[in-house]
Amino acid sequence: MSQFPKPKVYASKCLGFCACWWNGTTIFSDFIEMIRPFVDFVTHCPEVEIGLGAPRKFIRIVMEEGEKKFVQPATDKDLTEKMMNYIQTTIESLGVIDGFVLRENSPSCSIQRVKYYHSKNRDSSIEGTGPGLFAESILNKYQNYPIESDGRLRSRKIREAFLTQIFLLASFRQVKKSGEIKNLVDFHSDNKYLLMTYGQVHVTKLGRIVSNPEHLPVEQVMKHYWKALLPAINTGRKRSSTTNVFSKIFGYFSNSLSGEEKKYFLQRLEEYRTGRVPVSLVRELLRVWMLRFEDDYIRRQSIFEPYPRDLEELYDFDEYKKEQTRGD
Ligand code: SF4
Repeated sequence: MSQFPKPKVYASKCLGFCACWWNGTTIFSDFIEMIRPFVDFVTHCPEVEIGLGAPRKFIRIVMEEGEKKFVQPATDKDLTEKMMNYIQTTIESLGVIDGFVLRENSPSCSIQRVKYYHSKNRDSSIEGTGPGLFAESILNKYQNYPIESDGRLRSRKIREAFLTQIFLLASFRQVKKSGEIKNLVDFHSDNKYLLMTYGQVHVTKLGRIVSNPEHLPVEQVMKHYWKALLPAINTGRKRSSTTNVFSKIFGYFSNSLSGEEKKYFLQRLEEYRTGRVPVSLVRELLRVWMLRFEDDYIRRQSIFEPYPRDLEELYDFDEYKKEQTRGD
């Protein structure tokens, strides 16, 4: 079983860490609970930390001459300056983070679809939508990082992508910290097939950095690799590239398989390509052969276990939730 470093994940504090949601409650997130043992969390509640307390009267973003104002209509307070000062200090002190889970429906933390009003009047019309104030600064500073909302993470596909990214970034941080070029070579080699699912172009670019034809110092090579890795894995895994990668891996085993086995696999692969079965199903089939045929290079490929096995959803997440409730 692979050893995974713990990713550092920023989460909105109301997502199960504190009763600081505007009405004084906490928001239960299945995803946060699921990853809790496997990551180190950093949590904040911007609204409580600027002194609003919980429960509190709601906040809204109002547009004034093209500027966003952070106001509390019930108290007539303009909290923009307070919030902007808070954001600046907090974001500067955040440091290394591998991914963000931000609460939806919040004028501070939502990454999208926050309503921007014309005025603070109750019946004001909406001028537009966008991220909340805190989230906007996170999105600007941590470009290309995995940043998701608790709502979007209800999608299995988004959860898988997020988990893959944060564990990959955490592993790379370890490599970078070691300062050893050998560790970077191993990292690139072990993640080759996983990286190929984001597109061959990225693997080629990253491979060129690792080969270091200009004989740059190791810190610089690590820096270049990091700069290329972040946008590469932020492009999202492509179903077509993933299908090709699975097909390539299948090539390692196919000569040793029966006609029936080959046919069965290729049917499942086609179902994955057309979106009818999840990635984990095809991966599981290949994993069985990987164990059976003991090819060391293939065995080390992270594509078989991009994040801890206990986080893998081999079945439907909603079904998992029902099982937890029933105590199955
Ligand atoms: S969404 Fe953000 S500001 Fe609102 S309660 Fe949660 S952590 Fe606090």
